[in-house]
Amino acid sequence: MPLQSIVAEIKARVSLLDLVTPRVALKKSGRAWRGLCPFHPEKTPSFYVFPDQGTFHCFGCGANGDHFTFLMRTENLDFAEALRRLAEQAGVTLPSRAAEAAEERRKAHLRAVLLAAAEYYHHLLRQPLGERARAYLAQRGVEMSTAEQFLLGWAPEGWDTLLRHLVGRGFPVEDLVTVGLVVAREGGGHYDRFRGRLMFPIRDLDGHVTGFGARVLDEGQPKYLNSPQTPLFDKSASLYGIDQAREAIR
Ligand SMILES: [Zn+2]
Repeated sequence: MPLQSIVAEIKARVSLLDLVTPRVALKKSGRAWRGLCPFHPEKTPSFYVFPDQGTFHCFGCGANGDHFTFLMRTENLDFAEALRRLAEQAGVTLPSRAAEAAEERRKAHLRAVLLAAAEYYHHLLRQPLGERARAYLAQRGVEMSTAEQFLLGWAPEGWDTLLRHLVGRGFPVEDLVTVGLVVAREGGGHYDRFRGRLMFPIRDLDGHVTGFGARVLDEGQPKYLNSPQTPLFDKSASLYGIDQAREAIR
């Protein structure tokens, strides 16, 4: 099925209203629905959804488009990822090459999250609050040049240090959960999985960071904590990386 037909099929199966209403409160207005524009600040609603046509239009800021543009703009997605999500919601099977391309982009995005985390942990290791970790490494004979080479890092004690940093950089919380850096609280909200730990990025054969090995500096338990199983981090396949991580932060 050509992409054009897939897009049409998705639009036929999913009402634009179903996409918009979780994000914007709408009131019926003739054949359209009206609400406060999610793309610019306003007090009087000028954002219209036309479910029959599957389009939206804001008469305040000019934002307009369809299912795909709406999802891409509100969730900060590229087209491939929006297509993947909408196809899933619509129950439309994507042709394998498109699916693979979307999946590859998804993985690239998740890898970017992990690299940003590794770089941030490493940055923190060099900050005053990383002093205890630096002292620990020095005591073990690990030079800072080695720490830099392996991008060793420090996850501070706080509950949301990494969370706030990465969300501030525009990474969606769901992606942080997906790669195992952040855990969802039962009562809502999220917290950093790794706290008060020396961080060792685990890489795949291509050198991409796929997860972390982490250890406490004191007698805390568990002594070692690894990333959970994620789309990028296959624990069984990453055993070598984990061993390497332990070797370095033993
Ligand atoms: Zn607007």
